[in-house]
Amino acid sequence: MADVMIRPPEPIEFVDLGAQRRHIGARMDEAIRRVIDHGRFILGPEVAELERQLAEFCGAKHVLSCANGTDALGLALMAKHAGPGQAVLVPSFTFAATAEVVAWFGATPVFVDVFDDTFNMDPGSLEAGIAAAKRLGLDPVGVIPVDLFGLPAAYDDILEIAAAHRMWVICDAAQSFGAAYKDRKIGTIGDLTTTSFFPAKPLGCYGDGGAVFLDDDETVAVLRSLRVHGQGTDKYDNVRIGMNARLDTVQAAVLIEKLRIFAEEIEARQKIADRYSTALRDLVLVPELPDGLTSVWAQYTVRLPPGRDRDQVAAELKSLGVPTAVYYVKPLHRQTAYRDYPVAGNGLPVSERLSEEVLSLPMHPYLEKPVQDRIIAALTEVLR
Ligand SMILES: *Cc1c(COP(=O)(O)O)cnc(C)c1O
Repeated sequence: MADVMIRPPEPIEFVDLGAQRRHIGARMDEAIRRVIDHGRFILGPEVAELERQLAEFCGAKHVLSCANGTDALGLALMAKHAGPGQAVLVPSFTFAATAEVVAWFGATPVFVDVFDDTFNMDPGSLEAGIAAAKRLGLDPVGVIPVDLFGLPAAYDDILEIAAAHRMWVICDAAQSFGAAYKDRKIGTIGDLTTTSFFPAKPLGCYGDGGAVFLDDDETVAVLRSLRVHGQGTDKYDNVRIGMNARLDTVQAAVLIEKLRIFAEEIEARQKIADRYSTALRDLVLVPELPDGLTSVWAQYTVRLPPGRDRDQVAAELKSLGVPTAVYYVKPLHRQTAYRDYPVAGNGLPVSERLSEEVLSLPMHPYLEKPVQDRIIAALTEVLR
């Protein structure tokens, strides 16, 4: 007994992939082994099967799997012929890939501010960004809203603005596959939607992976060609400049197994988010779901009260065995690589404030209640 009492508590994982692996059990090993045995490592049968299942899961007409979420965005931008002289509106409070791909093609990312409660693109700032692009002599051709932390962006407003300006919409759903915006699942909104299967995303594989979701029959044929060096009717016929952006068959097999339990995992994440929010609402600003929207809780991110020293809070939580993370420490328009690109209006005050106040708590579907309670107790103790 004494031994039990002095033993330090188990370390808490920020994302516990080991727990998921124990839950999935031997099925995963068998799925991977089947691929190794049949040996069709590139565009093997599991790839087409996964694409079919992903389409069925979200209701998209077409799904094209690819090497990662960044290439998914790149393929989507190639399909839209992004190039010099064009402006593409992106939120500043996001992962770098959203803006990076725009710059790949010589187009100009124009940074837009976000809402301080949903962390997602503010349509008012989008309008200001379009005006800023025009003043600079750029042609605003498209917008890439991001569903940050798993919550869909304000699509009704964004789609309306995009339509009024004849702009395309590519939804960066790297963090939100599985979520819903009113009666539509993520993957069926905008011209194209992209996602990532990076291991720590809600639906992650055992390496890199991604996908593009779309409705248009002609565009999916173009994407299929772009994914394999712009191939035409056969392998050594090249009709356009493309890339090598295929998803490995092994990763497709992994994802098929994970997709079986994905709906349950989303439910588990929602329950954890609910428990966190109930317990922490009086202590910090907790994330709230707008009416009709669901989140897949890629992150559970709170805002600390203004003036709290976040580094100190994180350090104290760490000393209590609670890992945290900061997404994102710096908005993109403040990053060295992106600071010379235009911003909407007179600056992006919300993105800047959020980057100082946000703190993400451990979140994964296998976070047991006693562990949730330890996290809640630790944050309560540190902030009180
Ligand atoms: C993870 C992520 C990406 C990139 O996905 P990768 O698979 O890592 O290339 C793009 N956009 C956002 C918002 C992301 O979170």
